[in-house]
Amino acid sequence: MSTSAAEPIAWLRDAYRPLEECQVPINLHAFQYGTGCFEGIRGYWDGTQINGLFFREHFQRLAGNARMLLMESPTVDRMCEIACELVRRNGCQHNIYFRPMVFKDGVELGPILHQQPDGYLCYLIPLQDYLDTSKGLELCVSSWCRLSDNTIPTRAKATGGYLNSALAKSEALLNGFDEALMLNSRGYVAEGTSENLFLVRDGALITPDRASDILEGITRNAVIELAADLGIPVVERSIGRTELYRADEVFLCGTGCQISWVRSIDRRQIGTERGPITARIQEVYEDAVYGRNQRYAHWLTPIA
Ligand code: PMP
Repeated sequence: MSTSAAEPIAWLRDAYRPLEECQVPINLHAFQYGTGCFEGIRGYWDGTQINGLFFREHFQRLAGNARMLLMESPTVDRMCEIACELVRRNGCQHNIYFRPMVFKDGVELGPILHQQPDGYLCYLIPLQDYLDTSKGLELCVSSWCRLSDNTIPTRAKATGGYLNSALAKSEALLNGFDEALMLNSRGYVAEGTSENLFLVRDGALITPDRASDILEGITRNAVIELAADLGIPVVERSIGRTELYRADEVFLCGTGCQISWVRSIDRRQIGTERGPITARIQEVYEDAVYGRNQRYAHWLTPIA
């Protein structure tokens, strides 16, 4: 990892430490069984300071997900404080990405969640684009099914659940695509491997509803807010696979990918180029995250 500090600093358990000293044992529960949950949070450098995007909301989601998984996180205030201090200690003056995680910190044999100690870690890395937001993504529908809520809840952002994303993403990349879309076990469109999805049909935005085995994305909420402000109707409902191919526009959204437009799905071209509704949302989103639109100042938390 390279931050501005000579020696990157992270938080593990109860202290700030040099990143290279943040080690966990090989018999750690979280490593053996994937018993953890995490967040990905962006901080945007506006030329003067770093602004955390939906900073508190991400830590609130993490605390709620930890509770769901019988884990105890530090308080939301404490997690925010640690992240802010990491920015200061690392002397960041560029876009960053925080990775906080609550995890089972025991070493006993056997996959259980209760009666195991809880750990907390947080580190940050510099991050520009995660997916190319300009060129138009080529997607495929994965042969891997999205986890269902009663298997490993996608809503939980659980570490172990990301094996599902990794299988789909590697399959897509090895087959020459940029990203995969996953259908849920009922055959409806769920989401990308780390993104939510919107289609445009007849001037309206359509996105899988919260019971479609998705992560309830914070960027997804932001897009819904932007659409309301722009007078674009939004429908949350089940989406069949072939509706993807009939869409006028498709885009992915997420903290990492921001707003990324889709050029094709399963080699079927979507529209011609980046569509007008996607373009508008992408532009307003970018202005908002860089603090250029005061209407969305409430999305940002000044950090350092
Ligand atoms: N779905 C999955 C599976 C993800 O990992 C992510 C990234 N956190 C998203 C959707 C987008 O969520 P958010 O907008 O909260 O980053």
